[in-house]
Amino acid sequence: MTSLTIESPNVRYTKDFIESNYTYQTSTVEKNGDSSIKVTPVDVKMTFRTDRRTPRLGVMLVGWGGNNGSTVTAAVLANKHQLTWHTKEGVKKANYFGSLTQASTLNVGSGPDEEDVYIPFCDILPMVKPNEIVFDGWDISSMNLADAMERAQVLDWSLQQKLRTHMENLKPRPSIYIPDFIAANQKDRADNVMTGTKEEMIEKIRADIKDFKSKKELDDVIVLWTANTERFSAVEVGLNDTVEVLLRSVKKNAAEISPSTLFGIASVLEGCSYINGSPQNTFVPGLIELAQSRGVLIAGDDFKSGQTKLKSVLVDFLVSAGIKPVSIVSYNHLGNNDGMNLSAPQQFRSKEITKTNVVDDMVESNPILYPTGRKPDHCVVIKYVPYVGDSKRAMDEYTSELMMGGLNTISIHNTCEDSLLASPIILDLVILADMCKRISFKSESQTSYQGFHSVLSVLSYLCKAPLVPPGTPVVNALFKQRACIENIFRACVGLPPQNYMALEHKINIPNLLSNAPCQGSTKSSFNLKTRKSSNGISVSNTANGVNGH
Ligand code: NAD
Repeated sequence: MTSLTIESPNVRYTKDFIESNYTYQTSTVEKNGDSSIKVTPVDVKMTFRTDRRTPRLGVMLVGWGGNNGSTVTAAVLANKHQLTWHTKEGVKKANYFGSLTQASTLNVGSGPDEEDVYIPFCDILPMVKPNEIVFDGWDISSMNLADAMERAQVLDWSLQQKLRTHMENLKPRPSIYIPDFIAANQKDRADNVMTGTKEEMIEKIRADIKDFKSKKELDDVIVLWTANTERFSAVEVGLNDTVEVLLRSVKKNAAEISPSTLFGIASVLEGCSYINGSPQNTFVPGLIELAQSRGVLIAGDDFKSGQTKLKSVLVDFLVSAGIKPVSIVSYNHLGNNDGMNLSAPQQFRSKEITKTNVVDDMVESNPILYPTGRKPDHCVVIKYVPYVGDSKRAMDEYTSELMMGGLNTISIHNTCEDSLLASPIILDLVILADMCKRISFKSESQTSYQGFHSVLSVLSYLCKAPLVPPGTPVVNALFKQRACIENIFRACVGLPPQNYMALEHKINIPNLLSNAPCQGSTKSSFNLKTRKSSNGISVSNTANGVNGH
């Protein structure tokens, strides 16, 4: 773990908080006609306040006994117990590869020898450690987590044997099973189901959350849906368009209120952040309004794990390089239970929608390539092939127009365990949701702090079809999404946004940085030890740093 201290008059550390005075630089645009654009840079003076106290966090997974649920639980236990295991390639050690917070780094400036200095992403702010998260959850299948791990066929057998004793006493709580919402082929595993009206089932879920929280002495609980993909539900006036209407529909046991929406209502009423890792439209308008009225964070939809993650990099690269994608064709085949569920047309349709909209913002960003707004042809196919199990295959063909009538075709073949891509994303989602809950801010004109909008679009990086506050733009491009999280967290500790200008390496002005005053002060803030560090940032091992509590 790196201990990070920011040396700046704009940053204050108290026992419980980090406060940073920050100038948010943006710009406003006036458009007069088609070709006249006036841009005005705007500086907004803000204060960020971050609660340094990491909670004892519980996570309740809906679909705990599935491939993702059992794999993420196993991975955390393997890391916590520092397990190693033998495979035919040698000894493997538990790790968190694939996690933004646990296995990626960020640059904090130049070190004493002009070298770039990187810290683990999770050390920029005091984040919950995955090994300390306590898991619980629901599943319509009663199988204990050790057997569920075996059924999933994701982890090496020798690792499964070491994990068995840690997992066989973990049993999912009974869940809501409404056959109309998931594929008929799921019926056989539904042996652990709640009974009662929809209103009664919401009360049971709330009681489960309370029970988990008190038994495990938790400070906070996050609920995350990683159960089967549901069909889309109707969004209708008089059914789910406002909070009152939605709650009235629940009281009337309306057939069209889905299990994932019922879990959302129960979580929000319990004050628990609720995240949807599947594609269906769980967040009907009434549920979004309920979350807003209670100040509870919600996020989704659908984990952005493999093919779509790559698509949101590749299309961004092509369009921002001035190359015009005209046809994107994506095939998938997989053989796990998710694949079986998605082989039903209505559930596939939910997935098709989240997978298809992912290039829209990138296309809209470039009227030179797309003057009429016509999008590339985009086709997504998913087939169930039991033999390949969790080892999903994704094949993509991108055809783009080059200059002077040229064509460029890129073909990609990707094979990997689906649940080993999704599990670190589940961890990042809950760790970042908790982190965002502890960040508040105010502008110069405001007297009190406020948190993020209930619809937590900061988590877009991890979602295939990001839910955003009503009326705000959706960003799908992966590196913009990552920069959003990184730069907000940097702001919380008074660091400027990562701008990659690196002028100190590009222009010939002697001592460019070492003579510069620290932001907001009139004198140089550099001490001897960190003379060459940039922007007043010192990287040192102090006991009272951000993480030194
Ligand atoms: P899975 O089928 O192995 O697990 C889903 C679990 O949910 C099953 O154990 C099932 O019994 C349970 N379930 C179904 N309905 C339920 C309900 N109403 N309440 C409680 N439990 C219920 O699937 P998975 O591979 O773990 O994927 C889970 C979800 O995540 C799917 O919707 C999938 O589309 C989505 N997803 C997965 C990935 C990935 O890379 N693995 C990526 C994006 C989205």
